[in-house]
Amino acid sequence: MTPLSGAFTKPRTSQILGGQLEERNIQLVSDFYVERVDSEKRVLISYEEEEVPYDLLVTVPIHMGSEVIKRSGIGDDLNYVPTDKHTLKAKDFDNIFVLGDATDTPASKAGSVAHFMVDVFVPNFLRYIEGLDLLPTFDGHSNCYIESGFGKAFLIDFNYDTEPLPGMYPLPGVGPFSLLAESRINHWGKLLFRWIYWHVLLKGKHLPVPARMSMAGKWA
Ligand SMILES: Cc1cc2nc3c(=O)[nH]c(=O)nc-3n(C[C@H](O)[C@H](O)[C@H](O)COP(=O)(O)OP(=O)(O)OC[C@H]3O[C@@H](n4cnc5c(N)ncnc54)[C@H](O)[C@@H]3O)c2cc1C
Repeated sequence: MTPLSGAFTKPRTSQILGGQLEERNIQLVSDFYVERVDSEKRVLISYEEEEVPYDLLVTVPIHMGSEVIKRSGIGDDLNYVPTDKHTLKAKDFDNIFVLGDATDTPASKAGSVAHFMVDVFVPNFLRYIEGLDLLPTFDGHSNCYIESGFGKAFLIDFNYDTEPLPGMYPLPGVGPFSLLAESRINHWGKLLFRWIYWHVLLKGKHLPVPARMSMAGKWA
């Protein structure tokens, strides 16, 4: 499984967003596996006995699946259900499909992924009912706004095989949103999305955004 932060390890994304960290004087310490915290000395200590000092410590626990999956016995050690990453059928069960955060697919754990998964799942499930072979249609498509502060945001769009690339979205060449670049319009898009969430998505209305990622408008 890959949280959205997996996209940040991709070459173009880390190059562009890494510069943002430098501008904000944020130091990144990677490959650091916390073994313990010494709260008196105010240091994080790794398994290699490296130390990183802190003044305010905010830690995020390991990202795991839900308790209900754990209790059901169908999940792995992290409570994710082993899932075919293209058909979304559970690997160990013939009559279970898995969508969203419950899967162990190497896609982001994100609302957009759950949404795109549903779009490709429904026609496949109808095929399943009719006894037809499943089509390997889910491509890991994910997109998300990243607020960068000061009234601006980034937008990234990627899938299993294609890292976030620069370009314009959703209309190729027109946008209005810029991919892998900071802009005010991206921030306004994020604000508009709040309205879309409540009035379009939650009401089950169709959102005209293709479930499969498109290279149109992207600069490879
Ligand atoms: C703080 C936070 C911020 C996020 N921000 C973003 C973002 O900006 N953009 C983005 O794309 N994604 C974001 N995400 C991720 C996104 O919310 C999830 O990927 C998405 O909600 C997954 O959808 P899902 O339907 O798989 O699971 P969920 O939305 O978690 O739905 C699972 C449901 O199952 C219910 N449930 C659990 N146990 C039981 C049970 N025993 N019986 C019945 N029901 C049960 C839960 O109450 C829940 O309603 C964020 C997540 C978090 C936690």
